Amino acid sequence: MKNFNFKTASNTKEATKLASGRATFLAGGMTLLPTIKLRLAAYSDLINIKKIKGLSGIKVSSKSLRIGATTTHAAVAASKEVGKSISSLAVLAEGIGDPQVRNRGTIGGSIANNDPAADYPSACLALNATIHTSKREIPADKFFKGMFETDLKKGELIEAVEFEVPEKSAYAKFPNPASRYAIVGVYVAKLKKEVRVAVTGVASVVFRCTKLEDALSSNFSSSAIDNVNISSKGFNADIHASAEYRAHIIKVMAKKAVSSC
Ligand SMILES: Cc1cc2nc3c(=O)[nH]c(=O)nc-3n(C[C@H](O)[C@H](O)[C@H](O)COP(=O)(O)OP(=O)(O)OC[C@H]3O[C@@H](n4cnc5c(N)ncnc54)[C@H](O)[C@@H]3O)c2cc1C
Repeated sequence: MKNFNFKTASNTKEATKLASGRATFLAGGMTLLPTIKLRLAAYSDLINIKKIKGLSGIKVSSKSLRIGATTTHAAVAASKEVGKSISSLAVLAEGIGDPQVRNRGTIGGSIANNDPAADYPSACLALNATIHTSKREIPADKFFKGMFETDLKKGELIEAVEFEVPEKSAYAKFPNPASRYAIVGVYVAKLKKEVRVAVTGVASVVFRCTKLEDALSSNFSSSAIDNVNISSKGFNADIHASAEYRAHIIKVMAKKAVSSC
């Protein structure tokens, strides 16, 4: 069904109130609208959240970088604050899709959607992010549950994503040449207390690679990755790459990321 009511919320409270029953939030529409057009989903109401003041924007402190949910990928890529505090995040945003997608798509929409090949979920896991919603604060480690599945409850609105500012970090992606989604994407972050490595595009949901984290915790250099053995068990296999190839590319991307930190 392509018929729906279009409603624009002026604040968070109104948005969450309107998002009952078969209603859903609309941010950039880059995933939601094609999904409706292809009749993969149907909603009674689309609640436009792009006009809510305070839901877009970037704030930096010495310890964290907070990005409002409706901030576009283009705004993150162009932000001087992001470039200074977590430049790898600006690189990630610049590599998403194409200019049209980057100018419409939002960080909140990307992580709410939790596509297994999306880029931002890997940044959230590697940079120990906190997802601020209309109800609570969710650590990234608990947010990404499964394929297109998150910890969000019905009518719960993402307000912002807060990233820990790392000592060093980099994102390396082996992209699908058409969509730019990750065939394999590896985000490496050396935080104050730990090293985190998150992998996207490879399995049904983004995950932390503990083998790489252990190797890099004792020696943060690309050579530390050489002896890590990554099993392809459970990895995606499709026309773009076999599971074994993806396992191999994880190491290649991890080495590339560490070398560019
Ligand atoms: C051609 C193409 C190429 C792309 N390439 C890439 C790529 O290379 N890498 C990549 O990572 N992504 C890619 N994307 C995805 C894109 O970057 C968007 O981030 C993504 O489509 C969703 O963001 P959106 O703002 O458009 O959300 P929408 O499409 O508006 O919404 C998506 C879902 O999130 C929910 N939602 C939106 N905002 C919120 C919120 N604040 N709180 C709670 N729920 C919310 C909606 O209800 C909906 O279910 C691509 C998309 C297209 C169409």
